[in-house]
Amino acid sequence: MPSDDQPNRAKTVLVVEDNPLNLKLFVDLLDYHGYELITTHFGRAGVELASQKQPDLILLDIQLPDISGIQVAQELKADKATQSIPIIAVTAFAMPGDRQRMLESGCDDYIAKPFNVHALLSMVERYSNTKRSRSEGSS
Ligand code: MN
Repeated sequence: MPSDDQPNRAKTVLVVEDNPLNLKLFVDLLDYHGYELITTHFGRAGVELASQKQPDLILLDIQLPDISGIQVAQELKADKATQSIPIIAVTAFAMPGDRQRMLESGCDDYIAKPFNVHALLSMVERYSNTKRSRSEGSS
């Protein structure tokens, strides 16, 4: 069984984003840089995909058509199966209160739209390496 620490394994990023143009931008950018992508427009599907696919990182839009990104983050961080997956919130909000709310909901970091491509890539690279490998033997 391959180790989760293999440096050459392509990292998988789950993108939860309902705006088609933003989603395409994320997919094109991250695919070009060698990431495997899983995508959905919906928060509820995002929660399920995170659990099923165990991505290395989640890019999470906050304003979604069904449940909010805040709720998605809260559910993922409350579930043992998904709580170690890093979450970067993607948001158009700029109010300090909203940022605080995102971090309190369990998001590890956030990036504001419109975002700087290099800042996004460096954040993705950093956080996609921080997911703790779950020990297969325990529990
Ligand atoms: Mn949105």
